[in-house]
Amino acid sequence: MDTTESGARELDQGDPGYRDRFAIPPAEGGAYPEAAYFAGNSLGLQPLAVREELLEDLDDWARLGVEGHLGARRPWLPYHSLLTGTAARLVGALPSETVIMNSLTINLHLLMVSFYRPEGERTKIVIEDSAFPSDSYAVRSQARFHGLDPDSAVVRLDAAEIPDFLDSEGNTVALVLLGGVNYLTGELLDIPAITAAGQAVGAVVGWDLAHAVGNVPLRLHAWGPDFAAWCSYKYLNSGPGAVAGAFVHERHLGDARLPRFEGWWSTEEATRFDMAPVSRPPSTVEAWQVSNPPILAMSPVRTSLRIFDEIGMDKLRARSIRLTGYLEKLLDEIVPGRPITVLTPREPEHRGCQLSLRVPDADEVSRRLRFDHGVYTDARKPDVVRIAPVPLYSTYHDCWRAANAVATVIGEVA
Ligand SMILES: *Cc1c(COP(=O)(O)O)cnc(C)c1O
Repeated sequence: MDTTESGARELDQGDPGYRDRFAIPPAEGGAYPEAAYFAGNSLGLQPLAVREELLEDLDDWARLGVEGHLGARRPWLPYHSLLTGTAARLVGALPSETVIMNSLTINLHLLMVSFYRPEGERTKIVIEDSAFPSDSYAVRSQARFHGLDPDSAVVRLDAAEIPDFLDSEGNTVALVLLGGVNYLTGELLDIPAITAAGQAVGAVVGWDLAHAVGNVPLRLHAWGPDFAAWCSYKYLNSGPGAVAGAFVHERHLGDARLPRFEGWWSTEEATRFDMAPVSRPPSTVEAWQVSNPPILAMSPVRTSLRIFDEIGMDKLRARSIRLTGYLEKLLDEIVPGRPITVLTPREPEHRGCQLSLRVPDADEVSRRLRFDHGVYTDARKPDVVRIAPVPLYSTYHDCWRAANAVATVIGEVA
């Protein structure tokens, strides 16, 4: 394998990606002016088009005041629907199954109001042992909300243990709620197989797609989970705290028996301003909306989703496999025999773009990568550094910088 810098530059010429559409932060150290940014799994970079389109929405507010609800160039009243088509295509869902609203953990709660319905023996929620803490707190608080003891209602398992548990104790499981791509290890679970296994034993199956959306192709309608939710500030590049997404499968839409929490955005658009005392929810996932959305926060999501729509997730995934494979090979060749372990599965079909490295003192390694080499990664205490080459804006040369910087820093910190 060609591990030279000129080899990396050549690969970039043949497979350039879309870096020129993004604001790349300056490097804080090292020999190159731009950061080699591998933290897009935590906060994606800003698409250049965001500023211009956000200013248009701000100008409409300045120019129109309240009349912008109908008169803005992108009217605020139906603004959320401008994001539905692109979001639905990105997650492989029908437009009626897809809505952009709230933030991720809020959406998980609103969806669990409908889909976590403990009854009799069937009370348990299965999550991953390495679930993201917000998800863990959310399911524990849901169990408590239903008067259950979270220590017995919430079952934490390794992903590999889930099929056996469903076989033996499936009749006690009310809900399976897993991360499509694990935030810590970068493992991509078999979403369709686990969905089918959970539903076969009578459980409801939901997915947290925070680390999957914009990272791997999704086919939610065909795979058939009951619900899913995701955030927009990681691979979707829509800005810190960006408005999140939610999916409810078609089979549940319009089901009046499902409990839902409502507000004025839960009622159908045509009669919303009749101001009637009783809602008329539409037979779409929009019935799960509660409040009118924050237009100025929706704007970057709209811009960013369009980028995915223009390029196509399949094309991005192909480039992602090439970039991450290249980084992996470089790490294997440049850092031989060092105390370094890759926690992420080695097979591209079992991971997204992220590689998680086990290192001595993750904080120190990550700090040196950034300040001595201009390489942005993120540290999960005590010993995991996550490096995510993002196919939209990362380059082969970034990967080359990362592998060489890791080799140097590991030598220093070990
Ligand atoms: C990033 C992330 C969250 C963050 O939750 P917010 O509600 O957006 O603050 C939750 N769950 C998972 C799995 C995540 O990766």
